[in-house]
Amino acid sequence: MAERMLKFVGTPQAMPDKRPAAERRRDFDEIYERYARDKAAEQAARCSQCGVPFCQVHCPLHNNIPDWLKLTAEGRLDEAYELSSATNNFPEICGRICPQDRLCEGNCVIEKGFESVTIGSVEKYITDTAWDRGWVKPIQPRRERPESIGIVGAGPAGLAAAEQLRRKGYQVAVYDRYDRVGGLLIYGIPNFKLEKEIVQRREKLLRDSKVTFHLNCEVGRDVTLEELRDRHQAVLVATGVYKARDIAAPGVGLTGIAAALDYLTTSNRHGLGEMTAAFESGLLDAKDKNVVVIGGGDTAMDCVRTAVRQGAKSVKCLYRRDRANMPGSQREVKHAEEEGVEFVWLSTPQAFLGKDAVSHVRTVRIHLGMPDASGRQMPQEIPNSHFNIEADLVLMALGFDPEDLPAMLAAPDLGVTGWGTLKIDWRSMMTNLDGVFAAGDIVRGASLVVWAVRDGRDAAERIHSYLTTKVQAAQRIAAE
Ligand code: FAD
Ligand code: SF4
Ligand code: SF4
Repeated sequence: MAERMLKFVGTPQAMPDKRPAAERRRDFDEIYERYARDKAAEQAARCSQCGVPFCQVHCPLHNNIPDWLKLTAEGRLDEAYELSSATNNFPEICGRICPQDRLCEGNCVIEKGFESVTIGSVEKYITDTAWDRGWVKPIQPRRERPESIGIVGAGPAGLAAAEQLRRKGYQVAVYDRYDRVGGLLIYGIPNFKLEKEIVQRREKLLRDSKVTFHLNCEVGRDVTLEELRDRHQAVLVATGVYKARDIAAPGVGLTGIAAALDYLTTSNRHGLGEMTAAFESGLLDAKDKNVVVIGGGDTAMDCVRTAVRQGAKSVKCLYRRDRANMPGSQREVKHAEEEGVEFVWLSTPQAFLGKDAVSHVRTVRIHLGMPDASGRQMPQEIPNSHFNIEADLVLMALGFDPEDLPAMLAAPDLGVTGWGTLKIDWRSMMTNLDGVFAAGDIVRGASLVVWAVRDGRDAAERIHSYLTTKVQAAQRIAAE
């Protein structure tokens, strides 16, 4: 092993080639090229095969990273794929969009002074290669089971659960209010981070595996949760969180001020070849506009970078804390800066100015004060520090809360937490309704794709235990 691995001393870290910013600004294609085979093997060989791999500990899926890195370094890519897909339903998606700097790579303890192994890029390389070579095959369960499971939500949590349950032979039906499969993977996250074909080939794989999809079907409107409980032996709710947070500032209702997700969804629909009134009318098109995005998370980063690609005149991001204290990935900030985005740190909007449509954001400077109960320094406005920023389009990216789930699903007895997320028993992942389980953002609050996958997999296991226990109990009673 030592011969091939532990190359971090002589081999510097190298991400796959990144397209020049000037080129990236003109299209919505992904920004990284793929590793060449030799490069992937060379980078994988930098791993020092730690006895206690902190990368694995800090990956929410506990992926067997050191082993698939070693297999990649040895050119045994088919085995690397088998191993990496055993713990992750969408390795090529996580490899692209996990904030690795906060998860696996951020905890790579290769050796002080050396940069981490490029785990995400290698993971993506392994599975993209597997797709190219036809190793990714539809599921053929060893035995079919008669029980059927209804899944509400075709985002990563619902899809991961669907795949795992189908592997066990269950009949799986997925319901989604959208017209496409993928949840935020398709309508939230922009193409330059995750090309839509990557999600669509996963959808096809699930369809070829005989998972059925009922799209344009909103549970609570087109079918009730109660009806699904009658139709299926178990139901999984994986509906995500979509209620955009707002701020109460004068002028917030002016034309030209929009919610970040409406903007991103419109842009994604446009990219998928659809005509939408919001885009065609220019309302949610940043072309030739001065754009101001408010917020410092992943959604804000996606908005600023989308606006650049739509041909905005200027793009500014206002965030009330500083760079070191922002929730978004540092890697994304770097990409955004390269692409021409200006960050206005330590600032917050006080009012939106304009006659009918917004023309300026009245902004005030912030000073970070004493830490609050969570340990984060409290933003405090600096008196008389106002200034105006020109703006024709303002995008609010302040985070998301859950909708009113019992009302939305027409299930008044469904238990929720004080935050409005679904209340589950964490051991069984079941809600207070018998046979109704929940997973993903609707349980955790706005989180990450990798956590949604983890929850979907866990929920599939719990549903399987629930159903097998039920079947065994029924058999016992019949035998008595
Ligand atoms: P979702 O992906 O939200 O899917 C829920 C699905 O349920 C949707 O398809 C919705 O239509 C459907 N649904 C809702 N209500 C109903 C109903 N009543 N009936 C039928 N269907 C319903 N995470 C990362 O790891 N990396 C990133 O780079 C990243 N970027 C992001 C960028 C943006 C703009 C946003 C908003 C989020 C981003 N995230 C990112 C977070 C990530 O997308 C989510 O954590 C993840 O998608 C949650 O998965 P989910 O399956 O729980 O929910
Ligand atoms: Fe890292 Fe995400 Fe892959 Fe885990 S799933 S190894 S956190 S990129
Ligand atoms: Fe390899 Fe880094 Fe993981 Fe250690 S922490 S096993 S060096 S990838």
